[in-house]
Formats: sequence, structure tokens, C-alpha cells
Amino acid sequence: MREFGYERAFDVSGAVALLGGEPEARFLAGGTNLVDLMKAGVERPALLIDVRELPLDGVEFTEDGGLRIGSTVTNSDLAAHPEVRRRFPALAQAVLAGASGQLRNMATVGGNLLQRTRCGYFIDLSKPCNKRTPGSGCPALTGEHHNHGILGTSEHCVATHPSDMAVALAAFDAVISYETADGPGELPIDEFYLPVGETPHIETALPAGALITGVTLPQDPVAARSRYRKVRERASYAFAIGSLAAALDVQDDVVSEVRLAFGAVASRPWRARAAEQVLIGRTASAEAFAAAADAELAAAEALPENGYKVTLMRNLVVAVLTELTEEAAR
Ligand SMILES: Cc1cc2nc3c(=O)[nH]c(=O)nc-3n(C[C@H](O)[C@H](O)[C@H](O)COP(=O)(O)OP(=O)(O)OC[C@H]3O[C@@H](n4cnc5c(N)ncnc54)[C@H](O)[C@@H]3O)c2cc1C
Ligand code: SF4
Repeated sequence: MREFGYERAFDVSGAVALLGGEPEARFLAGGTNLVDLMKAGVERPALLIDVRELPLDGVEFTEDGGLRIGSTVTNSDLAAHPEVRRRFPALAQAVLAGASGQLRNMATVGGNLLQRTRCGYFIDLSKPCNKRTPGSGCPALTGEHHNHGILGTSEHCVATHPSDMAVALAAFDAVISYETADGPGELPIDEFYLPVGETPHIETALPAGALITGVTLPQDPVAARSRYRKVRERASYAFAIGSLAAALDVQDDVVSEVRLAFGAVASRPWRARAAEQVLIGRTASAEAFAAAADAELAAAEALPENGYKVTLMRNLVVAVLTELTEEAAR
């Protein structure tokens, strides 16, 4: 492991200035992903800038009734927050479905958004990997890929984004705020994560040297009737092989509002807008939910070992939307 320096930042501008002064520096939040990658030799920072003392650990109401979540809020505090649980239950459920209690106590919102893929080749320095070393190749295409992507992948990379939290944020049109030496900026989550294309090593549109300061969730009444369902290979402490954040409003048996985002199927949380369009104005039924899933999954490109994800996601959409419909009728 490379020797590295350590600095603790106490204000946002100080953190940004420290990073600007050392091109090989990284922000350190909970360290639950970065430190593992350092141990594996994938990350080799010269300096760690600890951001945990920054005053970004609050959850506040916005003027329009939404929520602004600071980037150093821990996953545990986010999942336990009463307004998150009441108004965005799928978000609380998604966060609680991730990792373990100990990890959630350390992990933060900013770090969760920027955690790297769990593709085994990415963390194995003895193997090529386009995401780690651009142009070196993608062994997952012909190798181990049973938990790799089926939507929006490319011949250069088929890895998935591992975050559960980001899937719920994508369903609710979250906006990510950041600070750079040139001032603050914002990115809607749809634009925050970049399509994989020919550049799998460039994962987000976050400007170089930017510190994520928070995430804003606009007010969205349908989000109060939402659910996150995660499928994994064991009951806890495992990454998703497929997941769904869903919110649904039904008026007189007809779908009036719906939000859908898929997890563990793409290089980024996958907002299922084609499926949403199919459902608006249709009678809420298992047939309609299946047709909506099929519309989204028509673009799926499976590899030999991950075609099961198409069926899995279809079944998830039908099951979760059926549950939400039954709850709306009570
Ligand atoms: C065993 C294990 C199981 C896990 N299971 C799951 C799971 O099921 N679901 C899931 O979603 N996650 C899971 N995780 C991942 C975990 O949630 C992430 O590691 C965690 O959320 C990262 O947050 P952190 O604060 O520790 O980030 P760090 O490790 O500190 O940082 C991660 C990256 O983000 C950057 N960064 C951090 N904060 C900022 C900021 N404010 N601005 C700019 N850059 C920043 C860092 O420089 C680094 O590049 C698991 C992790 C482990 C180790
Ligand atoms: S899928 Fe992506 S991360 Fe995995 S080996 Fe291929 S290029 Fe690397």
C-alpha cells in the first residue's frame, strides 16, 4: 500500500482547497469503500482529506417541502430519520437493505453515491479491466458475469452500480449538490451518472475536485406510497442481483402516478421511464404491470449467464406494484 498523508477538513471551502492542492488526493468519508480499494491497490491516493467533521450532517426541509440531506449524513441516520421514513419509505428501506449495521454507521450519503462497482475483475490487479485501466479489456464479457448488467451496457464494460440508496434517489428525481473551487453546482441524478459507452472509467459528471455537499429530494406526494424490494443471494449482508424502487398512486382503479427505478441491472441506477409511460392512465392490474416491465426490458441485452435478470426484474415489477395497489385500496 502506498504511503499517504491525512488531513481533516472542518469547512467546505477548506476541504475543496485541500483537494485542489494535491491532484492525487481523495476525500475520505466513512472509508468503507475507499479504504478497501486502497488495500487492494486499486486506489493509491497521496493524501486523504477526511470530510466527516464538515457541517453537512443534517436533514432539513426545503422551501418547497422537499428534503435536503447533507452528504456526511450516515446511512444509519438517513434510514432512521422520521421524515425520510414517512415521506420516502423506499429510500429508508433501500438504505436499510444495504451492507450491515456497523457499515451503515460509518457509510455516508456522498460515499454511497460514489462507491465503485463490485465486479471482481475491477478489484483484481492481475486482470485487465477497462474501468480500472482504460483500454485494457473487459474479461467479464466472456468470464464471470452472472451479476453484471443487462441495460445500457457496452462492449467496454458490463458492470453494475452497487448502491441501493441511489436506486431510490433515482426514482424520486434527487438532485446532487456539490462545491468546487469555482463555486457550487447541481446535477439531477439522471445526469449525475454517465452512460458507460466507451469510457467506463468516467462514471459521473461531477467536475474534477468537487465535494458533494448534499442531495435534495423534491416534494413528491406519491413517494409516501413507495417500496424498495431487493433480491440477493442470501438474506442479508449481500449486494443486490436485482432491485426495484417503486411508488404508485391509483385513482378509481387507474394508475395516476408511478415512479420506477431498477437496481443491479446497469452501470447506474436505472430509471424505468418507458415502463412508467406504459402505466399512466391504465387500469392497475398484473397484466398492465407486466406489459410495463416488458416495455422497459425490451432493450435488455443479456450475456450467457445473466439472462435470468430479465425475468427477475419483470417479476419484481409485477409483485411490488400489485402490493402497492392492494395497499392503496385499503
Ligand atoms: C461488506 C460490504 C457490504 C456492502 N453492502 C452494500 C449493499 O448491500 N448495498 C449498498 O448500497 N452498499 C453496500 N456497501 C457499500 C457501502 O454502502 C459503501 O461502501 C458506502 O456507502 C460508502 O460510503 P463511505 O462514506 O464509506 O465512502 P468512502 O469509502 O469514504 O468513499 C467512497 C468514495 O466516495 C468519495 N467521497 C466520499 N464522500 C465524498 C464527498 N462528500 N464528495 C466527494 N467525494 C466523496 C471518496 O473519495 C471515495 O472515492 C457494502 C460495503 C461493504 C464493505
Ligand atoms: S465489467 Fe467493467 S469493471 Fe468488470 S471487468 Fe469489465 S470493464 Fe472492468
